[in-house]
Parts: sequence; structure tokens; C-alpha cells
Amino acid sequence: MTDAKPRFDRLALIGVGLIGSSIAHAARRHSLVRSIVATARTAATRKRVVELGLADEVVETNAEAVRGADLVIVCIPVGACGPVAAEIARDLKPGAIVSDVGSVKGSVVKDMAPHMPAGVHFVPAHPVAGTEHSGPDSGFAELFINRWCILTPPPGTDAKAVERLAAFWRALGAKVETMSPEHHDLVLAVTSHLPHLIAYTIVGTADELGEVTESEVLQFSAGGFRDFTRIAASDPTMWRDVFLANKDAVLEMLGAFQEDLSKLTRAIRRGDGETLFEHFTRTRAIRRGIVSIGQDSAAPDFGRPPATMPTTPLPRPYASGEE
Ligand code: NAP
Repeated sequence: MTDAKPRFDRLALIGVGLIGSSIAHAARRHSLVRSIVATARTAATRKRVVELGLADEVVETNAEAVRGADLVIVCIPVGACGPVAAEIARDLKPGAIVSDVGSVKGSVVKDMAPHMPAGVHFVPAHPVAGTEHSGPDSGFAELFINRWCILTPPPGTDAKAVERLAAFWRALGAKVETMSPEHHDLVLAVTSHLPHLIAYTIVGTADELGEVTESEVLQFSAGGFRDFTRIAASDPTMWRDVFLANKDAVLEMLGAFQEDLSKLTRAIRRGDGETLFEHFTRTRAIRRGIVSIGQDSAAPDFGRPPATMPTTPLPRPYASGEE
């Protein structure tokens, strides 16, 4: 964060949505790259990237984007990472670092690694930071500050390349951790994927209450439900891909969740206040632990951006990412 010298000459961003545009903002703010070349799938997004001035150059194809780049970051839904890796393989510069930001790591490694030519360093990454917004307009430079970025380099990856990418993410404001893709997917299944599935479910359930939705549910949507609706507004393509790609870990965690839900259901049915009280006391301690390690604020959230964020129109980042 303090070193103003560019760490990379040419950063290629494939996909400029929330994460890609946030990387562009933050890399520029901290002068981490000499130039940014970007591309996106549709002409409309590429045009918007030009209008927003997010890159020095906007090109039409993924292959063009990676030519001459010493850092390539693929910022697209995880289901699209394999085909894109195949598309760019021949045009990658020897010695380049290729990374991604996907919310699932096992499938991305399986889909991308086989296409990586010798001499190119493949270092998958997942910044655990996000909002429910998407597209090139939604990014902001502060998104990664104090959030984790998890790197999952395959065994044998050049340690210097891993450290260069870690330093880049630290300079964007993130804290960096390294782990295996499998471990990442299990941890994120419970901390991010399952909460999103619950939010998608509960908002759908409320919606099915028909006339209630039109009146009371919206009118009285205090804390709990309102927070769920924010999470359930997350990008449908991204989240479809996450659940398809992290099926096993999500199903494992969903099984554990259903068992716990049954225990609480039984306690409510039996009027077992002691069980409910003990459970809620334990979860309250977990919440306090999260606040004490700085992953969220204890301040009340009335829908305003937190005070640490200088520009008011920005969406409020949340710790579960997205993630
Ligand atoms: P986003 O705002 O929806 O942007 C997605 C970008 O990917 C757009 O530029 C889009 O291009 C492009 N794209 C979509 N489908 C594509 C395809 N089939 N082939 C090539 N490009 C395609 O998404 P995002 O939130 O930045 O998420 C990007 C990645 O970051 C995902 O893998 C996600 O899992 C991960 N992630 C997201 C969050 C989060 O909270 N959002 C947090 C951490 C990690 P067009 O606009 O032209 O269609």
C-alpha cells in the first residue's frame, strides 16, 4: 500500500464487473500497474468501460487482451473460466502470472490449469469481498480493504510468482491467506455459499406468501428480512455457477444445517426454551468474535454506507463476499 512503484507493467482484466472494475480502481489508486487493458464479453460492457475510463485500452477479444500482459486476472463467472483459459492460452506472455477471482476454487483449478502453458504461472485467487451489485459501474477502490484474499496455487507453483500476486492483493488493501482449493471450497460453503442459499430461499418463501409480500412483508421489513433481500439480490449467473461448481461441499454443509434446523424446530415445538437460549448465546458469541477481529462493524446498519467509506453513493461491502 505504501510502495507507489508499479508492480506490474501491464494488467489484463478479462471481465469488468464488480470485481474487475474494483481491481482497476484500486490498482490505479495505488499505482500498482503501468497500464490496464480490459475486455468484456459484450460490446455494451466494453463501451461502458471506455466511458468510465477504467482501462487504458479496451479490446474486443480475450486473446488480444492478454498479449504482452505480465498479470492477467480473469474476473468472470466460474463456469466460464475453462473456455476462457483455452482461448487465451496461446497468447499468454512467457513468465506471465494468470489468476482469477472466482468464488469456487476446485472447479476453476480443474478447468483452467490444464490450459496453462509451461512458463506461465497460474495462481488462482478469491477476494472474499463483495456486494449485491454487479457490472462495471458497481466497482470501487475500497472494496478489498481489510478483506481476505485467498490464494490456492497448485503444488509446485513458483513461490516468487505467488508472493508477487500476494503483494499485489496486499497493496489493494486485502489480507492474504494461502490454502488448498478443496479446503477453500469447504470453508466458503459454510461462510458464504450456504448463507446465500438461505437468503435466496427465505426471500422466495416470503414472496410466495402473495398478498403478504405486497403489504406487510415489505412495509415491516426490518433488520433480518431486509438483510436477506440484499444478499438475495446478488447476481443470478454468478451464484448459479457457484452452486453448480461447489456442489459437494455445499451439499455436505446443507446436510449439517438441516440437522441443526431440525434440532431448533424440535425445541420450538416442545417449548424447550433452554435449548433455544443456549444456542442463541453461542451464536451471539460468534458474532462478537467476528466484530472483534475486524470483519464487520458493531455499529448499527440503517442502510447507510459505513463511515470509513469516503464516497456516499457506494454500496456497502459485506464480509461474506459473496462472495
Ligand atoms: P459481474 O459484475 O456480473 O461481472 C461479470 C463479468 O464477466 C462481466 O464483465 C461479464 O461481461 C463477464 N462475463 C459474464 N459471463 C461471461 C462469459 N460466459 N464469458 C466471458 N465473460 C463473461 O460479476 P462479479 O461480481 O465481478 O464476479 C466475477 C467473479 O468474481 C465471479 O467468478 C465471482 O464468483 C467472483 N466473486 C464475486 C464476488 C461478488 O460478491 N460479486 C465476490 C468475490 C468473488 P458482460 O458484462 O459483457 O456480460
